[in-house]
Amino acid sequence: MKSKLPCFFHEGQLEFHPKFEWALGNRIKHPETTRRAESIFRELRKNKDLFDIIEPTRIPLKAIRDSHAYQLMSLYNTASTLDDGETFYPSVFPQRKNANPDPTNIKHAGFYCFDSGTPLDNKTWIAAAWSAGSAYYAADEVGKERSRVSYALSRPPGHHASKDAYGGYCYFNNAAIAAKLLKKKGRVAIVDIDFHHGNGTQEIFYGDDKVLTISVHGDPRLHFPYFCGFPNELGKGKGEGYNLNIILKDKTKINSYLKTLKEIVVPALKKFEPDYLIIAAGFDTYKLDPIGNFDLEVEDYIKIAQVFKKLKLPTVILQEGGYYTKDLGKNVVSFLKGFC
Ligand SMILES: [Zn+2]
Repeated sequence: MKSKLPCFFHEGQLEFHPKFEWALGNRIKHPETTRRAESIFRELRKNKDLFDIIEPTRIPLKAIRDSHAYQLMSLYNTASTLDDGETFYPSVFPQRKNANPDPTNIKHAGFYCFDSGTPLDNKTWIAAAWSAGSAYYAADEVGKERSRVSYALSRPPGHHASKDAYGGYCYFNNAAIAAKLLKKKGRVAIVDIDFHHGNGTQEIFYGDDKVLTISVHGDPRLHFPYFCGFPNELGKGKGEGYNLNIILKDKTKINSYLKTLKEIVVPALKKFEPDYLIIAAGFDTYKLDPIGNFDLEVEDYIKIAQVFKKLKLPTVILQEGGYYTKDLGKNVVSFLKGFC
């Protein structure tokens, strides 16, 4: 076992530069910038005694296919033929039952997309595949028992991407890709602590009793993704009882956050008895985040990490959201220190 915490990141993840998004009719600067990853990378580098930064090799396409429909990959491949500087935002989102989609036609992107904030350009596929690769090799590191805990600086994030749809700044579901790899060896629990409901991860494992999905998030009636993330979504078929959604109020502070983890999340994890834990770690729960609406401080993240560390499970931590770039790296390092 290695003494330093391995952190996976590839600079190919920085090739994608979404410039703006359409948010409730307004054109705003895109929050999911490369500065996010750079902020985290800088803080990891400052703590060389604790963290080892590792460049992943290419992810096997099969590992992406285990979680995603080939049409989604085909669409990203179509986007890779766009001109430099050209960005595609779908403006038609057909109801699926009425559509005849063609992923080789970029105009059909709206069939595979569920919002107007997640653009495609000719580098989307490269950055998303390297991000998935960072998650995949972080899981492989733990699965092969080289490390007890690993971290992937997975940018772009992943938890809103479902089997055949992208959105919420997410293109491939990094947590699902990591979970499918570890599922070959045992039972996997995914705990999503991003401010937003992990709708894509929920959907991918909704009928699965070998992967427990838990998401702790802001009220979906008020916040993205709006249509799901409610407590009555429990899973279906043999997956029934293996999906848990916990809604916290706006402005939640650390005491009630920890109470929820200790009284609801930890008992659910102990009951499930996972062999592996994946934490989809978003930091848009930070008090200054422009998108999230909780009230957590930098030093709170170490306390959250310590709750998970006490479970003594092989753990893979994946980067999700977090848009207050200035402090994002500090928040991530605070969290990771809880595992050191
Ligand atoms: Zn988020």
